[in-house]
Amino acid sequence: SVSVHDLAHRFPGTDVLFEHLDFTAIPGQTVAICGPSGCGKSTLLSILAGWEKPYHGTVERKNVERVGWVFQNPYGVPGRTALDHVVFPLLAKGLRRREAEPQALEAMGLFDLEYAADRRFSELSGGEAQRLMLARAVCSRPDMLLVDEPTAQLDTRTAHSVSHVLGNLAGQGMIVLVATHDPDTRDACGRVIDLADYAPGDNEDSSFAPAGGNEPAEPTDSAPAG
Ligand code: ATP
Ligand code: MG
Repeated sequence: SVSVHDLAHRFPGTDVLFEHLDFTAIPGQTVAICGPSGCGKSTLLSILAGWEKPYHGTVERKNVERVGWVFQNPYGVPGRTALDHVVFPLLAKGLRRREAEPQALEAMGLFDLEYAADRRFSELSGGEAQRLMLARAVCSRPDMLLVDEPTAQLDTRTAHSVSHVLGNLAGQGMIVLVATHDPDTRDACGRVIDLADYAPGDNEDSSFAPAGGNEPAEPTDSAPAG
């Protein structure tokens, strides 16, 4: 499982993105992380992955050894085939090519991508490349899969099908967290965390106001720099 306790984040010199965030995601759940652009969805994924240290609060991972990540922007080796991209990580884990290929093709099939197996990465459309990244991530069977905006480059129909697959992936015993602002993708996930609900209030007291946040009774002589 992965749990966060009283999590809050801000980057140095920026406002608090979210605060008082508490949740536990367990294997078998697909969780959508929603909210407007800039609210901290991608940042939350980085924190869950352990790449970004939270400003406040804790992240606890239990039985999460392998973390898979699908970035918003697909990346690959232009001259290599789509199939190679899924097969290589399996070969790196010690599988033989003839074991790896059927597994890779099966994962590609989840995303309706078998037809593109022999195309070079450079020939794939944006949506095909995105689905290839998903297939590769799923194929490596991570304990926790973090997916950032998986449907941003897809047409409505393909987006719908990818959302559906993601919503059901958790059935394979993975914890799946999907950052998205696509309502369709959100609806396909069993559970939704809306970061807008954890935005700091404009006027209410924030736990993260500087100590002694009340205005000083009288102005000080030293003017702020700048
Ligand atoms: P989108 O829907 O556009 O992908 P998001 O919810 O994923 O947005 P984040 O990428 O998490 O948003 O960024 C949240 C905010 O933090 C943004 O205002 C962003 O500019 C800022 N930010 C992200 N990374 C850093 C950083 N390393 N240093 C300073 N600010 C950052
Ligand atoms: Mg983002």
